[in-house]
Amino acid sequence: MVTKRGRLLGVLVGIIFCIAVMTLYHLLELMQGAELQHRVNTPVVHVNEELFHLQKKIDRLERLLSSNNRVVAELRDSLLHHKASLEIRRGGANMGLDSSHSRAGVLPGCRSASETKNSSVQMLDVYDILPFDNPDGGVWKQGFEISYSGNEWNKQPLEIFLVPHSHNDPGWLKTFDLYYQDQTRHILDNMLIKLSEDRRKKMIWAEVSYFSKWWAELDGQQRDMVKRLVQNGQLELVTGGWVMADEANAHYFALLDQLIEGHQWIQKHLGVKPSSGWAVDPFGHSPSMTYLLKGAGLKNMVIQRVHYAVKKHFARQQTLEFLWRQNWDASPHSDITCHMMPFYSYDVPHTCGPNPSVCCQFDFHRLPGGRVFCPWKIPPQAITEQNVQERALLLLDQYRQKSRLFRSPVLLVPLGDDFRFVESREWDAQFTNYQKLFDYFDEHPQLHVKARFGTLSDYFQALHRHLSAAETTLPTLGGDFFTYADRDDHYWSGFFTSRPFYKRLDRTLESVLRATEILFSLTLAEMRRFRGDGRLVESFPAHEHFQRLTAGRRSLALFQHHDAITGTARDPVVVDYGTRLFHSILNLRQVLQSSAHWLLLLDKNLYHHDQSKPFLLMDDVISAQDALPQKTPLALSDEPRSLIVFNPTEQQQTTVISITVDSADASVVDAETGRPMAAQISAVWEEPSQASTKVFQISFVAELHPLALVEYHVIKVSTGSADRAGYTFYRHGNPPTVNTEHFQVFRPEDNVLLSIRNKHVQIWSSQETGLMQKLQLQSGLVRELRVQFAWYGTRTNRNQDKSGAYLFLPGEEGAQLYSSSEPPLIRVSRGPVFSDITSHFRHFTHTVRLFHLDGHAGKALEISNMVDIRSEANRELVMRLVSNVANGNRFYSDLNGFQMQQRRTLAKLPLQANFYPMSSAAFLQDTSSRLTLLSAQSQGVASLRPGELEVVLDRRLQQDDNRGLGQGITDNKLTANLYNLLLEDRKGGATEVGGASVEHLSMLAHLSSLSLCHPPITMFAPSHHQLPKLRPFRPLHSSLPCDIHLLNLRTLEDAQEAESPSQEAALLLHRKGFDCNSTPEPAPVCTWSVHEEVNLHDLFSPLHFHSIRRSGLTLLPDDKEEEVEPHVAQLRPMEISAYRVRLD
Ligand SMILES: [Zn+2]
Repeated sequence: MVTKRGRLLGVLVGIIFCIAVMTLYHLLELMQGAELQHRVNTPVVHVNEELFHLQKKIDRLERLLSSNNRVVAELRDSLLHHKASLEIRRGGANMGLDSSHSRAGVLPGCRSASETKNSSVQMLDVYDILPFDNPDGGVWKQGFEISYSGNEWNKQPLEIFLVPHSHNDPGWLKTFDLYYQDQTRHILDNMLIKLSEDRRKKMIWAEVSYFSKWWAELDGQQRDMVKRLVQNGQLELVTGGWVMADEANAHYFALLDQLIEGHQWIQKHLGVKPSSGWAVDPFGHSPSMTYLLKGAGLKNMVIQRVHYAVKKHFARQQTLEFLWRQNWDASPHSDITCHMMPFYSYDVPHTCGPNPSVCCQFDFHRLPGGRVFCPWKIPPQAITEQNVQERALLLLDQYRQKSRLFRSPVLLVPLGDDFRFVESREWDAQFTNYQKLFDYFDEHPQLHVKARFGTLSDYFQALHRHLSAAETTLPTLGGDFFTYADRDDHYWSGFFTSRPFYKRLDRTLESVLRATEILFSLTLAEMRRFRGDGRLVESFPAHEHFQRLTAGRRSLALFQHHDAITGTARDPVVVDYGTRLFHSILNLRQVLQSSAHWLLLLDKNLYHHDQSKPFLLMDDVISAQDALPQKTPLALSDEPRSLIVFNPTEQQQTTVISITVDSADASVVDAETGRPMAAQISAVWEEPSQASTKVFQISFVAELHPLALVEYHVIKVSTGSADRAGYTFYRHGNPPTVNTEHFQVFRPEDNVLLSIRNKHVQIWSSQETGLMQKLQLQSGLVRELRVQFAWYGTRTNRNQDKSGAYLFLPGEEGAQLYSSSEPPLIRVSRGPVFSDITSHFRHFTHTVRLFHLDGHAGKALEISNMVDIRSEANRELVMRLVSNVANGNRFYSDLNGFQMQQRRTLAKLPLQANFYPMSSAAFLQDTSSRLTLLSAQSQGVASLRPGELEVVLDRRLQQDDNRGLGQGITDNKLTANLYNLLLEDRKGGATEVGGASVEHLSMLAHLSSLSLCHPPITMFAPSHHQLPKLRPFRPLHSSLPCDIHLLNLRTLEDAQEAESPSQEAALLLHRKGFDCNSTPEPAPVCTWSVHEEVNLHDLFSPLHFHSIRRSGLTLLPDDKEEEVEPHVAQLRPMEISAYRVRLD
């Protein structure tokens, strides 16, 4: 019955569609015919105009068609939905647990705000109840006195796993290579010797970047020894990431990519799969990382740096071990067992039990005579027959106290510190002395304790065994662990912004890497199809390019380390990271250029690769690791210059491409059709009111197909025929001298406010500062929205701790509004493609731009800040948005670009505690509106008062903040940061401003963020070089649904031939959750689906997947890997899905 009704509906939809399309064509034909007849005798001069009108009509036809497509898609969705609801009624549903999308007027597939009551512990609630009073807890300073009676372990003995570890930062005080030479390789060399001596000895290792470097130096026999240690459980690779990644600033693309790089390496060389996570040093913890670990097949994880008040609370509640659940997931699907270390640090004094002065005595590396000692002044003693009883009982007391903080009698005791186990002597000191203590425990069964060396998985296996024997489960927890404080009011919110230049460079590399990965994978597939024999074109340097890709992946991966992207390394180490990022960008560009070269050639036989004579060049040059990109001006002549644009997004985009040219008389045409593109010539400014007379900017509106490469021609046109921007200048009390030879300058208006507008939005700005004051949408929604800049200083008292690379410790006066003795120069530009207002202040240049476009690009304000605080000392510059959005004390910031997390600004916390990391988005909302700031780089964000949102732009701090770095951060650069700002109407959002709720970005915000983070890539042919005939490359028939993001299409390494591409690629899809309360109008051209089932063949048509196998997120060959047949995949909202695909 269902199929009958379904079919009937299908037929109906088909008929409606056919009728609609036919009517449309007929109507347009009639209109066109009539108009043409009317103008049959038009003189030649009007031909251009005719063409223009014809063009407009075609455009309209295209628009109508695309809106028709949308209607059909919606009908198809409603059909699917109809089917699905019938299935549900039959009980045969194939939907997610909470697929509730049939509310009237609500977008299909969207996610309503939901209360976060799916976890027994919710971090937002914990923050509400904690007093944050920091009383002295005695020996456990931040905790409490722990008591036990002694008979607790009579039935179930205390089972202790002492886990030797060595924390190796891939760069911090020394560079990665220097640490490796001085310490890491000795640690690993000794590990191989010592573990091979005695099967009882164990160790865990986390950083695959180091491990793989060491491995490369081993001979076959040594490698076999390592494999044996892994096989017999003495050596465990934990987490298995390239680095122990930062979880605040890192974007989920890079977090996953470094995990893939590490896991793939481990799989290939050691043949194992990591099962436990180890993150003892990242400065706060994010559930996005948890999600990725779970998706990569890990079952357990350990975290350490959590606010001391939270640790104490969890210790009292015995919730230090929990199942960490995603807030948006009501099912246990995403749960992972998490162990939170209870005390201050991961070193030996803070891991055996609550009393550091006792625990330090059991760090046998600190035995008298060595270089390290115990700051509590009681040194360790070597274990002898004489002291073993006293020592064993002293240690056992600590173990027993620590055990009281957990629900099971199994106890995890890490043994290690930063760069430990370098010397053979240290290995012997630790293992020999502990073994004596363990032997003593064994010989005294009345103590009811069993202790041994273990790996992390040894511990978790025992834990799970106990939990299931006791038929109990751990509590579930939702939320995150930001913002971290290790003591007093020392909140680690400074590193959210430290070294913002490199945080931005990280994201630039990320977008170049993703674009290159995708284009390279598509190129290989096209080549195989072209040749027909599964092989690649011989002259294409696939092997070298794959090495460049691998190096690029590893540079990005290394930078995710918790002292790299965080901005907390020494100056020379920062330069080392920057150089790696910079070189990777240059190398990846070579891969992009030659892939584009092959794909674009009409006659593939003309392809040849010559590194010294590139076929295409990038339109900008980056001259050094600390320089911003500079556009290369294109020299125009009578011959058209070819411009190649790659759209790295999976969406059809209407976007503005800007290049520089050497003439004010230029235009751009589509090379395929000859169609002229809407364009505007703008000035390139040598000084704020001084336009260059040699170089100009041409900005044109490009219609880009998803993942397509297209060619445009830039041509010289007759003088004055191109549309030019017009300018108005303002400077309060001191009108500037203006020099703009080729551009019209308008007299300043008398209005109090400056204003620019497009058809979606109008803004008003102050004439004195140029800064925005008010915003109005086409719908009529008006919001006060003042942009302000302000300075924070640091504490001034000699005895007070001051801000540094990690910590934000602002002065008591709080932020001071930015003011300058010189009024800023304000330049307003107006043109057919975009209009903007730029304010030149001494420390920054701030621009707000509106694009005159129809799609989502027309709805967002683009904000850019060029920041330079190199002249300042102990100051931090913030940009603040002050609105009348009634958000109360709640706002939302993203976690790693993967999900949104509600934040509550709490008066009981110091100002610096109310700052949170923002990788890509933050928003404020009330019942009728939402204000979203989308960001292209990671920074700290806060909403200190209702209606306000502030982001920290840069910080320059003269002193160390006592976390080991030993320096301030004064290597500031000229730094660019970029945002999109969206104001949206909310419908039916009246339920908000209540309990803790899970919210998502709107569809519009997702699309806007995608364009912001993955801008089109522009290349041109060198001037001397006449290009052969090119053909646009359009790999997809249509956009992916707008809620499905192509996270990556990453070519995998050949299993046989090292460092060469295989025929397989990792297809990573992220289905985004999006908010129901904002309906984009008009709806975007892409569609979305109510169903979780997606046909991958249809999605990527006409690309052909030879095989599709669903896999874990790090693409390890897994017993569970299953063939997706017939290419129908389940994509649950919010989830990332990974497939191993063979493309041809
Ligand atoms: Zn570290």
